[in-house]
Amino acid sequence: MLNKKSVDDINVKGKKVLVRCDFNVPLDAELNITDENRLVAALPTIKKLIADGGKVILCSHLGKPKGEPKPELSLAPVAKRMAELLGQEVKFAADDNVVGDNAKAAVAAMNDGDVVLLENTRYRAEETKNGEAFSKDLASLADVFVNDAFGTAHRAHCSNVGVTKFVDGDCVVGYLMQKEIDFLGNAVNNPERPFVAILGGAKVSSKISVIENLLEKVDTLIIGGGMAYTFMAAHGEEVGNSLLEEDYKEYALKMEKKAEEKGVKLLIPIDTVVADDFSNDANFKTVGRGEIPADMEGLDIGPESSKLFADAINGAKTVVWNGPMGCFEMSNFAKGTIEVAEAMAKLNGATTIIGGGDSAAACNQLGFGDKMTHISTGGGASLEFLEGKELPGVVAADDK
Ligand code: AMP
Repeated sequence: MLNKKSVDDINVKGKKVLVRCDFNVPLDAELNITDENRLVAALPTIKKLIADGGKVILCSHLGKPKGEPKPELSLAPVAKRMAELLGQEVKFAADDNVVGDNAKAAVAAMNDGDVVLLENTRYRAEETKNGEAFSKDLASLADVFVNDAFGTAHRAHCSNVGVTKFVDGDCVVGYLMQKEIDFLGNAVNNPERPFVAILGGAKVSSKISVIENLLEKVDTLIIGGGMAYTFMAAHGEEVGNSLLEEDYKEYALKMEKKAEEKGVKLLIPIDTVVADDFSNDANFKTVGRGEIPADMEGLDIGPESSKLFADAINGAKTVVWNGPMGCFEMSNFAKGTIEVAEAMAKLNGATTIIGGGDSAAACNQLGFGDKMTHISTGGGASLEFLEGKELPGVVAADDK
């Protein structure tokens, strides 16, 4: 079990605290923040550090400036909005070098409880290479380091991993990070049973390690979305123009065999909504298993599959879901995804966890956001957690 030191285990009074946040928010052409969920999610940790009398130095990446200053990817709009959300000044340390004279001066002038935000960490080319010079620069600003950016925890960068080697004081996790570790870690490693996992999305190839790891842990594994057609094709069934990864048919059969050996129930769709075009305006109909016409493509699971999956979810004590059941972005093909989300939302006393990325977007977009126990803030990071990998950003924090 991961047992990392958190902000509750340290005393930051009068200390300079560098906090790695995930402020990677979408901006429109006028540099307005179009979704501030990540800023709001960062508030509990920041407020706690302010209340405890720390000098709070925030840092984050935003987009992909590829190692050079890009004004359209400056964190300046985030400083402005964070000041409003916190109800106090957030001094933006504009600095093309991130930790240059301007940032150093801003930090030197801080009083206890003040907040400074550094410039986009990816303005520095070393950031994504975990380079020593930038890690040292960041560490030179701080006595203590807090990592609250789960979204980048699967990457070893200067601002979440390298810096921990050079900070003299504690390196701990923030509340957001702690929550992700608790929910994802507990669900996968210490689940209350029955434990059901639902995987969907486009490709088998991108979720191989997730399937393998989960087959070791779950009681039931549900496979929907574009991934399912490779399983169908592996049994010699016609899948028409549906998503198919020929090279993974063998693998699909191997996974089915492994599930059987482990006593894991592996469910794939028993009917499919097929369309004559990849468009919401396409003609579509529902067909049974093995009946996909050669000139059509599967874009959603059918109603019988939704029922089969909902029955499997019903009674579960832990459910983890990653990947939509169909092309939920198109309303005609969102039904399967909605019905699976509904089945999860109806569960009483169960832990329901949504892996980040598309499933989190689907859940929020379809109105189930507040009905789940936990929606992960990290797409790639939550997937790697489900693969059973150690995340460098988590490993780097001090153990309790
Ligand atoms: P992933 O990132 O692998 O979780 O894939 C998410 C994407 O898979 C979403 O954009 C869905 O529209 C897409 N998807 C799900 N089911 C299908 C399907 N049957 N055919 C094509 N794309 C699909």
